[in-house]
Amino acid sequence: EQDERARRSEAMDRGDTSELRRSSRRAYLEMRKKKKVEELRDEIVDDELLFGGVRQTDAEERELKRKKEIYGLVHGRASQEEEGAGDYYRMPDAYDDAANVDQGRRFSVARRRHDDDADAGGGKGRAFSEESWEEQQIRKSHLQFGAKDRGHASDEYELVFDDAIEFVKSLAMAGTEPEDDTDELAEEIDAKVMLQMELQDQRKTLPVYKFKDELLKAIADHQIIIVVGETGSGKTTQIPQYLHEAGYTANGRKIACTQPRRVAAMSVAARVAQEMGVKLGHEVGYSIRFEDCTSEKTVVKYMTDGMLLREFLGEPDLGSYGVVIVDEAHERSISTDILLGLVKDVARFRPDLKLLISSATLNADKFSDFFDMAPVFKIPGRRYKVDIHYTVAPEADYVDAAVATVLQLHVTQPSGDILLFLTGQEEIETVEEILRRRTRGLGTKIAELVICPIYANLPTELQAKIFEPAPPGARKVVLATNIAETSLTIDGISYVVDPGFCKVKSYSPRTGTESLLVQPISKASADQRAGRSGRTGPGKCFRLFTEHSYNKDMEDETVPEIQRSNLASVVLSLKALGINDLVSFDFMDPPASEGLLRALEDLFALGALNSRGELTKTGRRMAELPLDPMLAKAIVASERYGCSEELLTVASMLSAGNAVFYRPKDRALVADAARQRFNAGGNAGDHVALLNVYTEWEQSGHSAQWCLDHFVQSRTMRRARDVREQLEALMERVEIERRSCAGDLDTVRKAITAGFFRNTAQRRRDGFYRTLKSWRTVFVHPSSGMARVVPPPRWVVYHELVETTKEYMRQVTELKPEWLLEIAPHYYQESN
Ligand code: ADP
Ligand code: MG
Repeated sequence: EQDERARRSEAMDRGDTSELRRSSRRAYLEMRKKKKVEELRDEIVDDELLFGGVRQTDAEERELKRKKEIYGLVHGRASQEEEGAGDYYRMPDAYDDAANVDQGRRFSVARRRHDDDADAGGGKGRAFSEESWEEQQIRKSHLQFGAKDRGHASDEYELVFDDAIEFVKSLAMAGTEPEDDTDELAEEIDAKVMLQMELQDQRKTLPVYKFKDELLKAIADHQIIIVVGETGSGKTTQIPQYLHEAGYTANGRKIACTQPRRVAAMSVAARVAQEMGVKLGHEVGYSIRFEDCTSEKTVVKYMTDGMLLREFLGEPDLGSYGVVIVDEAHERSISTDILLGLVKDVARFRPDLKLLISSATLNADKFSDFFDMAPVFKIPGRRYKVDIHYTVAPEADYVDAAVATVLQLHVTQPSGDILLFLTGQEEIETVEEILRRRTRGLGTKIAELVICPIYANLPTELQAKIFEPAPPGARKVVLATNIAETSLTIDGISYVVDPGFCKVKSYSPRTGTESLLVQPISKASADQRAGRSGRTGPGKCFRLFTEHSYNKDMEDETVPEIQRSNLASVVLSLKALGINDLVSFDFMDPPASEGLLRALEDLFALGALNSRGELTKTGRRMAELPLDPMLAKAIVASERYGCSEELLTVASMLSAGNAVFYRPKDRALVADAARQRFNAGGNAGDHVALLNVYTEWEQSGHSAQWCLDHFVQSRTMRRARDVREQLEALMERVEIERRSCAGDLDTVRKAITAGFFRNTAQRRRDGFYRTLKSWRTVFVHPSSGMARVVPPPRWVVYHELVETTKEYMRQVTELKPEWLLEIAPHYYQESN
């Protein structure tokens, strides 16, 4: 075995892939042999247990005897092997038909044997099983040599002999067994084991591999380390594995690796589970909001930064972790920023905790400074030259320009995949559709273009597709959000198309409104994106903006999220952690005090803080719910209105993603009508419509057909059900009584208003809605059921504002103005 290992590492150094493959094959056969023997042993044990010592029939008795015999022989032979007694991988196969082997048609054996069974009634089997093993071996080795002599040593033939280690069930039993699938099973195992060997080889080609020992030593020597390396160098997938292998989990403590994006957490966990050859959720798992895919066994846990933040609430010293890796720290997500402050503090009183801060950009000094001059470990990257192309003039419509560029690249450029950055799901779906239509139009005139979208809400089963290589002759184009900038590395990208935009959360503390805006990216982002094309060879990046705009208009760095977000949620979490003095909290880049103040005011208005800024009982309950404070408040308030069951449903539907309904172009009117039905009772509103959808779906027995009939996405519904289950459990924990309002929907609307009273608008005489207090002109989103209600309600409460061409209210419900004074007097009385 050691020889083998030496040979492998030598081959690795030489880059001799065919020797590596041969070695893989040898090692695989060894593994497989072991597995087979183990299986056999288990079977014997099972049989013994099953028969309980009392043999039912002669056949069963014989079967067990046969298995024991084989098992004994294999073991007997193992010692000979060590003495060098040739033939390592052969094991007796009592039923192999000599004639078949001789003709090199090993893989038809199984079928033949069944034919034989049918007419010979197992007679042949008995004949063979009575033959001694030595006799069979002699016969076989003759065959083997005979075959070689005749020059049949083709690949196929080698395989024939290598594979001759299968066991089959006794023929005597075959009459009672429906099918013999041993061969299929063996082939499946084959494929798995081969994949595993390849994965292990791949792991060793990643840049971080060469620095494994040095890195482990650095981690052993220092408590806090900043790790910097290009995207794709193996930081996220490898370092946790190295730490696990090096024994950092042996003390029963886990390794946490945080990601700012949920898709990255899921996808990377899946990959690492595959590399470690374990089932996802066992040793390797992930935890994202409303989805916990971990178990007692889990030692390597990928999670969103927000989830680790939540865990602080229950475990302020993070006692169950031995290592915390704050990955993608350069993204500076709001949760990551808070985490940095918190883990820095924990590290002070837990000297046994190892802390790794990992970043894909080179301005690591800032992290090092923040962590009291922690050492920076640089993983030198491979980066090939990337040619940057700019447009000559600014593009009016970047989506059109992007489509045109992708198609142009596809027909003019040599092989290599394309990565196109877009801003969100809707845009990606539009581009996907246009590309499909246009390539279909061209038919076979151009090579196949495989289109792979990736965005946060993409169903898990489709996420893996972006990593699959395109079939020979075809080209892959990945349509991605910012997630492909650094969080996910897709191999084989040679061309990047970058329109230069991304969707960012932007918040105005003055008006208290937060919205998602499509904005130009920073220079740093543009350079990261370009770099995605030069990972495996020289690349090209096509920027859909001008060089002038890059130099003059773009910011150098993206502003950290904490400086452009509503801080209510963060302040609530910090308060719940007992951090009262927010001004002296150790922020890497402190948020503007105006923003902090605003958050305190909002939380006070929601009743989460008292006038001294201390957490109230309501606030404590709200902090336990992983929801925006406004939605959390609506749930807490629903108890008072006797509609907590309904609010639970509404909150789950709101949290399950935006796509509840779908609207096929060719049946748009039918879909709209189906949808409008849920807005029954005139001005019920979108929240109640969501409630109606869920209730009917549940009454249908969660039927997929029901979803089809009503133009509802069953995937969203299933997710809503999952979310609901988890919220239910949390409600129990914070002791919110579960009550249903039994159809009195005003209570539901009141509870919504209790949380969202700040998101209210009034229709003015000119017919336009203005938000209360901030007096912005807003519109009902066309996707809202309320967009078609005549006459439109005078007062509405909405879930969120989205800014595209106008400012749109999404999820709109009618309210009565007197509720505002009843529910939020402190907010509406004095100034109105
Ligand atoms: P880094 O964190 O340094 O950016 P990663 O550890 O994420 O690097 O990636 C290392 C390698 O693993 C890359 O080549 C990437 O393509 C591959 N990889 C990561 N996730 C997956 C996945 N889900 N499927 C296939 N390959 C993956
Ligand atoms: Mg990474």
